[in-house]
Amino acid sequence: SPIIEIDHLSKRYAAGTEALRDVTLNIEEGEILALLGPNGAGKTTLISIICGLVVPTDGTVRVGGHDIRTDWRAARRLIGLVPQEIALEPFEKVERSVAFTRGLYGLPPDPAWLERVLRSLALWDKRDSITKELSGGMKRRVLIAKALAHRPRVLFLDEPTAGVDVALRREMWEVVRGLRAEGVTVILTTHYLEEAEEMADRVGVISRGRLMLVRPTAELMGEFGRKQ
Ligand code: ADP
Ligand code: ADP
Repeated sequence: SPIIEIDHLSKRYAAGTEALRDVTLNIEEGEILALLGPNGAGKTTLISIICGLVVPTDGTVRVGGHDIRTDWRAARRLIGLVPQEIALEPFEKVERSVAFTRGLYGLPPDPAWLERVLRSLALWDKRDSITKELSGGMKRRVLIAKALAHRPRVLFLDEPTAGVDVALRREMWEVVRGLRAEGVTVILTTHYLEEAEEMADRVGVISRGRLMLVRPTAELMGEFGRKQ
């Protein structure tokens, strides 16, 4: 069965904004799904609900079969979230920062895992650098390593390339494809069709709180008459 089941989900904020309207979507284990839409479409709201940070007005979400409202702890354990904002301790070393997050989950140190994750994110050579010395792209990769610290099965990336230049965007695309190779299910948000095409197996288009369509990337590229 799907790793994430979203059923008739709606969100109306206190101010009256209908941020999500009747969204239904299943996400399969191991896939990379891009949520594509303009600013204000509802992408962050959708991710925030699945991660248990925002309470929906209507509908249900299950993660690994666990209802996020009644079984939040079990659901949350399966999820890693990389938020848009980069928040790192500036003087903390990379390796220490990731190890610390693992400790927050009450998990014992695992040097072999730590080395593997830092290598896979091209951070191994920077393990003894303090985070304030890193480039924007490297900082984002540290956030990914921290989000993976409890070995979640699903990773959410909220606009992973916001505010980074073209070269770093391509680097991030590589990182995401690498995560797929590790078997992690990835859900990311983006404003760019090109980015969705490069990274995702499937693209969901969100507009004004509605999920307008969900298509395999190859099909979408055909519809828009692009490379194939
Ligand atoms: P995004 O970059 O995803 O469009 P925004 O810049 O719109 O995000 O929002 C930044 C933060 O402010 C988010 O945490 C969002 O939940 C919150 N926010 C956005 N719009 C409002 C609003 N109208 N009232 C209160 N908080 C808001
Ligand atoms: P996106 O991530 O696609 O930019 P968001 O989910 O951030 O979209 O926002 C969807 C809509 O909900 C926007 O109109 C935004 O202003 C509004 N919104 C987001 N967060 C809040 C909030 N905390 N309070 C009120 N309105 C919000």
